Amino acid sequence: MFQTRLSSISLPMNTLDQMVERGHERVSFHQDPSSGLRAIIAVHNTVRGPGFGGVRRWYYPTEADALYDALRLSQAMTDKAAVTDIAIGGAEIVLILPRPGHKATEAEAGAMGRIIESYHGSLVAGEDVGLTPQYVDWMARETTHVMGGDRSCPGGDPAPYTARGVINAMSAALAYTGRPVDFAGLTVAIQGVGSVGANLAAMLAELGARVLIADLSAHAIRRVVEECGAEAVRPEEILTSRCDILAPCALGGVIDASIVRKLRCSIICGGANNILDDYDEDSVALKARDIVYVPDLVANAGGLIQLAGAYLGLPEEERRQRIADIEHTTMRVLRDAESAASTYAAAIALARRRLVEAVKVNAPAG
Ligand code: NAD
Repeated sequence: MFQTRLSSISLPMNTLDQMVERGHERVSFHQDPSSGLRAIIAVHNTVRGPGFGGVRRWYYPTEADALYDALRLSQAMTDKAAVTDIAIGGAEIVLILPRPGHKATEAEAGAMGRIIESYHGSLVAGEDVGLTPQYVDWMARETTHVMGGDRSCPGGDPAPYTARGVINAMSAALAYTGRPVDFAGLTVAIQGVGSVGANLAAMLAELGARVLIADLSAHAIRRVVEECGAEAVRPEEILTSRCDILAPCALGGVIDASIVRKLRCSIICGGANNILDDYDEDSVALKARDIVYVPDLVANAGGLIQLAGAYLGLPEEERRQRIADIEHTTMRVLRDAESAASTYAAAIALARRRLVEAVKVNAPAG
């Protein structure tokens, strides 16, 4: 019989302190000897509903890096769900690969599925970086609490919905800056053309934008150049390319203080989670440079709405409407930011108000 055993690897001294500071409910370490799986699961907050989070398969130089990713991604998910006003909480599963590009196996996915099942519905998993719908289908043989597979579980690939939501957020940012909401003739630079970035590139090209792209994978670049006529840029140049909109769609932490000084865009709006290296400082620095930054927890919520909405039983029409509403939420956050330190501060304030309301609603009467 499968058992979820606590790992024997030593924890960084301050793991509990980090949990307290960020408000996590539960952080668990898991390993499965037969498949070699090693994972950290962070459940941040379940006040508004079950902890919903992606499974990220990634190679981390140190265990502390993996823990840090799990903690911040799960916290961001709580905020994203609250800003989007969907009845779920935040979680993240980080699957630590032994080496970059380590191949996914059915046995590993099955073990992951059994671990998710052991949470009895307080954890619901979807796709994140490094996962395929096939992998989700393999997990779904062991648990009903996964979303986004090809066949065995509902929701489908979230990436097109995420990309659609990013376009809606871009539309609001254009309107906010007093420009016509028309992508024809605009230049959009996309960092990372994996699932989300490739969908975004195709949609933008369809709308008449000039699309610049960069990726670490030559195959990914070739596909997008061929499919939608995008122009490839060197990975080290994409963030500072001259463009109207910069759309980071790779990993997090890509915009730091040194990049902020070199940016040549008027809007940042992308699909990646945790785009800024230091949210408090970088978001303020962007405001000071008059660059409109749409917080990623607002811009990239489309996939979450699609998958969590399907899990919660929202009809397709309602999910579509909620993804369209990302445009209104973005406008609200950008306007709120006029009297806040930054757009990020405004988004977080909105999320926290919703969490406080949920705590009040859930509080026992009397
Ligand atoms: P993916 O793995 O399909 O694609 C990521 C791409 O980024 C890969 O092609 C990779 O080669 C590329 N990349 C990595 N580092 C790069 C760099 N430094 N420069 C250029 N390219 C680089 O992942 P995805 O599902 O498209 O997700 C992308 C981002 O969007 C992640 O941050 C993820 O957390 C976030 N996100 C995804 C979804 C979704 O629906 N898939 C939803 C919300 C947020």
